[in-house]
Amino acid sequence: MTRIIFLGAPGAGKGTQAQTLAEHWKIPHISTGDILRSAIKEQTALGVKAKSFVDSGQLVPSELVQDMVEERLQKADTSSGWILDGFPRTVDQATFLDNLLKKMNLGGALVINLDVPDDVVVGRLLERGRKDDTEEVIRRRLEIYRSETTPLIDYYGERKQLVVINGNQSAEEVTSNLKDLTVSC
Ligand code: ADP
Repeated sequence: MTRIIFLGAPGAGKGTQAQTLAEHWKIPHISTGDILRSAIKEQTALGVKAKSFVDSGQLVPSELVQDMVEERLQKADTSSGWILDGFPRTVDQATFLDNLLKKMNLGGALVINLDVPDDVVVGRLLERGRKDDTEEVIRRRLEIYRSETTPLIDYYGERKQLVVINGNQSAEEVTSNLKDLTVSC
C-alpha cells in the first residue's frame, strides 16, 4: 500500500506531481482543493459553505474538510493507497488524520515536502491565473501556509515520516527524484 501526503507552499507543484505519481502507481490523487472547487461549481451544501473561504484564500473550517476527507478515504478505490494533496494543512488536521488512520487500522503515510523558494512560488501562481490566484489572495494563502502549515514539517519530521525534495527544478526532474525516493522506502 502506498500512502503519501504532499506538503509544500501553494505553487510548489504538489498537484502536478501528485497527479503524475498517482497515474504511475494507479492510486487515487485526492486533492482537497479540487474537491472543494468542484463542490463550489456544483453548488452542493459543502460548496456553498466553502465558497467565500476558498475565493478569499482562507482555510475552509476544518470540520468541513475533515468530514470530506474521511468520506473520501473510505471509498473502494483507496484499497491500494492514495496520494493526499492539500490535506492536512494544520496540526489539528494532522492529528485528525493520525486518528482516522488508526481507526482504519492503517499505518502512517510518507510525507513529502516539496521545497520551493517564495519568489519562485509567487511567479508560478501569477502565471497559473486560477480564480484565487490574484496577487492579494496569493499573499494571504502564503501567509496562512507559513503560519498554519509549516509547523507540519516539524510534526512529521519528529515522527520520522518526512522527506524533503527540491521542488525548484523542472517538473520532470522532480518526478524522477520522487520515483527514485519511493523505490528506496
Ligand atoms: P494551493 O495549494 O495552490 O493554495 P489548493 O487547491 O490546495 O491550492 O487549495 C485551494 C483552497 O482550498 C485553499 O486556499 C483553501 O481555501 C481550501 N482548502 C484546501 N484544502 C484545505 C484544507 N485542508 N483545509 C482548509 N482549507 C482547504
